[in-house]
Amino acid sequence: AANTDIGQHFLRNPEIVKGIVDRAKVCASDTVLEVGPGTGNLTVKLLEVAKKVVAVEMDRRMVREVQKRVEGDPRRHRLEVIQGDVLKTALPYFDVCVANLPYQISSAFLFKLLAHRPFFRSAVVMFQEEFAMRLSARPGDKLYCRLSVNTQLLAKIQQLIKVGRNNFRPPPKVDSRVVRIELRNPPPPINFVEWDGLIKLAFNRKNKLLHSIFTTKAVLLQLETSWKTYAALKQGNNCCEAPDIKGLVDGVLDNDRFKGQRPAKMDIEDFLALLAAFNQAGLHFT
Ligand code: SAM
Repeated sequence: AANTDIGQHFLRNPEIVKGIVDRAKVCASDTVLEVGPGTGNLTVKLLEVAKKVVAVEMDRRMVREVQKRVEGDPRRHRLEVIQGDVLKTALPYFDVCVANLPYQISSAFLFKLLAHRPFFRSAVVMFQEEFAMRLSARPGDKLYCRLSVNTQLLAKIQQLIKVGRNNFRPPPKVDSRVVRIELRNPPPPINFVEWDGLIKLAFNRKNKLLHSIFTTKAVLLQLETSWKTYAALKQGNNCCEAPDIKGLVDGVLDNDRFKGQRPAKMDIEDFLALLAAFNQAGLHFT
């Protein structure tokens, strides 16, 4: 029986399986990474088009199922199954990733993909509908959030197929969507820890004015602390009095590009410009 605690919802509609494999645009020379092969519905179709499939599956029973499914088939030599948690497994080389993911690991696996090197051609991944829509949400959309900007900073996202819950056995509680992920190469040359620090503050209150977000007591204190850290690193001592941090923030935000702006309406270029302006004023988010 399916163990839904680890996201075992198997695709039972061959049209959807074919749709996913077609959209993955696998070439005959490709190595495909499949996450969570389960009973092997996608795996056997991928083996028809790929040079090699490496599948990572956590459940030992499913590892046996998928191996049984290719028993006696010459294609089995092109399938390698790794038993383990994909989040704890060093990913092998791959050109294309295909995954009908267990939804519990959606964001952790997404960030593993976004950080993966060497660059791969694309990933075609099934997510819960709302999660998928967040990935490609644009400024002004209701679902535009920290996940949207962090993902779009590092990748291009394309919505591919909407998959109703009844295409799975057993059916999950919500509908799903398949998206294509292509990493931006090269990635933008910024400090991601600092970027995420700024984005986190911005999207905690995404409908507020930038000015009210970045002049709360807590944020000013945080900016002052990191100002001191940076100053000490630069000058090798703690000699310096912190300047008027609020004055610096006012100076950054008193600019036509940022005045009257709210995170919900800003695009990635706006956030990159905002981070650069803060940094130029000596303000940091780490
Ligand atoms: N690919 C199959 C299909 O489309 O019918 C099964 C997809 S099912 C949604 C997710 C699969 O991922 C299950 O087989 C489950 O055992 C496996 N799985 C769950 N958590 C995992 C993890 N952390 N690492 C690797 N596989 C995992």
